[in-house]
Amino acid sequence: MVEVVKQTSQGSVTLARLGHGEIVGEMALFDNAPRSATVVAVEKTTLLSIDRLQIDAKIRNADPTIALLIDTLTNRLRSMQSLVGAPGLTQSVAEPGESALLSARAGTEDVRQILRFERQLIAGLENDQFFVEFQPIMSLETHDLVGFEALVRWRHPDLGNVSPQRFIPVAENLEAVVHLDREIIARSLSFIAEANQARHDACAKTRDCPPIHVSFNLSTVRLSDGSVISDIDAALSAHTVNPAMLKVEVNEQVLIRDAQQAIAILSELRTRGIGVLLDDFGTGYSSLSYLARLPIDILKVDRSFVKAMTRSQQSKTIMASICAMARALGKDVVAEGIERPEQAEMLTDMGCSYGQGYHFAAPMAAKDALEFIHSVTPVDAEPDRFILNQNGT
Ligand code: C2E
Ligand code: CA
Ligand code: CA
Repeated sequence: MVEVVKQTSQGSVTLARLGHGEIVGEMALFDNAPRSATVVAVEKTTLLSIDRLQIDAKIRNADPTIALLIDTLTNRLRSMQSLVGAPGLTQSVAEPGESALLSARAGTEDVRQILRFERQLIAGLENDQFFVEFQPIMSLETHDLVGFEALVRWRHPDLGNVSPQRFIPVAENLEAVVHLDREIIARSLSFIAEANQARHDACAKTRDCPPIHVSFNLSTVRLSDGSVISDIDAALSAHTVNPAMLKVEVNEQVLIRDAQQAIAILSELRTRGIGVLLDDFGTGYSSLSYLARLPIDILKVDRSFVKAMTRSQQSKTIMASICAMARALGKDVVAEGIERPEQAEMLTDMGCSYGQGYHFAAPMAAKDALEFIHSVTPVDAEPDRFILNQNGT
């Protein structure tokens, strides 16, 4: 149990006692005013602390009405607090679970879990627990390697490997996402340099060896925030890499949510030669007129279409139409989640340009990706003979 204590001219006054599972915090975190009360543990207590970074990010990302509400409540609480200890006023102590603000036990466990996860994530960033894997993207026409997608990984000492689908949405609610994105961009750029060096070494005897690009997934929240441009510019000047080798993957949600801002940012990136991929294409609300207006170079068709394609004629027709439409709009297509050779063949017949999936290779560590480059790069000057992966597919 802890007590919230205020020092007054008449001595120390206990404002509240809080028990297991309750939340206590300094109002100074919200309004930067001087601290006016102290929290004292009156028995052995374990605290889960939440830092200013987490609180700031929550308020910044919240609805402006909530920020206003916090402001109003803080002011009212401050004026109530100023009365404590005033002559003639009796003070009752809120017991554990009593305080209107602090007693909402329902959902407390969930909130605590989320807050703990957020802290683990911030600590993970500080302790270098994040790394990036690279998954090859292949030309379906030439069977050559054209690039890689950078996919972030988190290996936590207790939680093990945490899926990006779980931690990315949490990071997006925190300032941490900016640091994570910077890390991913920096690693993608170093990998571009290493990959093209490996390509150059492996390709020395051939005439035509196209360079290797790397695409990274830009967090949805970053597309409503212009700072991503300066982050990418800073990273590009720190690494001597041709910007045309870098691509960004964005999903439709962001383009729907804040279309104008997102379009402005993507157009700005394209002026630097950075290509834009529309990820998970087909799962959102894409309309043809909308597609034509977007600053997009490549459609990345969601793996659900590739999966469905071999099961029904109708799904196959849809996939073929997407490829034809993309061609008509002058955009390339990457089909995701190709797991079987017949899917690759079918997509090649449809004129789909690129493919990615376990059939070619799973995401892998940077050093394995460099070996992969050697294993798929043409070994002599004959244009159509490549050594593919070990089973020759
Ligand atoms: P995504 O961008 O659609 O990434 C493709 C996901 O499909 C990856 O999962 C990849 O490992 C998986 N995959 C690749 N080939 C196959 C296949 O043949 N079959 C199947 N079933 N799956 C395949 P992962 O790495 O778990 O990433 C999941 C999602 O998390 C990504 O979906 C993306 O939305 C997000 N994500 C991953 N890395 C990053 C990142 O660096 N930044 C951001 N903002 N989001 C990321
Ligand atoms: Ca992606
Ligand atoms: Ca995708």
